[in-house]
Amino acid sequence: MALDAATRGLTVVAVDAHDLAFGTSRWSSKLEHRGLRYLANGQLRVARECAVERGILLTRTAPHSVHPLPMVLPLGPMVAPEQGAIGAVGLRLGDALRVGAHTPRGALPAPRRLSPAEALELAPELHRQGLRPRD
Ligand SMILES: Cc1cc2nc3c(=O)[nH]c(=O)nc-3n(C[C@H](O)[C@H](O)[C@H](O)COP(=O)(O)OP(=O)(O)OC[C@H]3O[C@@H](n4cnc5c(N)ncnc54)[C@H](O)[C@@H]3O)c2cc1C
Repeated sequence: MALDAATRGLTVVAVDAHDLAFGTSRWSSKLEHRGLRYLANGQLRVARECAVERGILLTRTAPHSVHPLPMVLPLGPMVAPEQGAIGAVGLRLGDALRVGAHTPRGALPAPRRLSPAEALELAPELHRQGLRPRD
């Protein structure tokens, strides 16, 4: 936070009772939220703020340490077609947040559909049985 504030032109001093980032920050998974959770709850303003802040981290404040993390969302026999469709809509809305936050596609690639063969190449531990492209 101190680094972020300093790079935005603020004068910052960090004082901590323990070591810097001693508290909850020790346990963070270090993932940048995409704001989808807030979007699903109808909290549009918070979702947009998350997307804007993520874009700033990716392109200005910390492009050296914040990188896209590819994720595979497999559609198999346990996932109903409707669930797959809802997931696809969610990912598209997430990309719309990126566009709205003016984050370039080069910094954060759009979601894309994979064939079962491509999915197995990226995640070989997936069960082959019933793996299908998006409905
Ligand atoms: C398991 C887990 C996973 C998480 N994963 C993610 C994630 O992937 N992505 C994400 O964005 N968020 C994640 N979070 C949430 C995120 O870690 C917290 O929101 C964030 O770390 C909070 O930071 P903070 O600086 O507000 O608080 P803290 O990191 O708790 O810092 C507060 C600091 O204040 C100091 N302090 C307390 N009292 C005083 C005092 N009287 N005087 C001086 N200093 C004092 C403490 O020593 C501490 O260092 C996760 C949280 C958990 C628990």
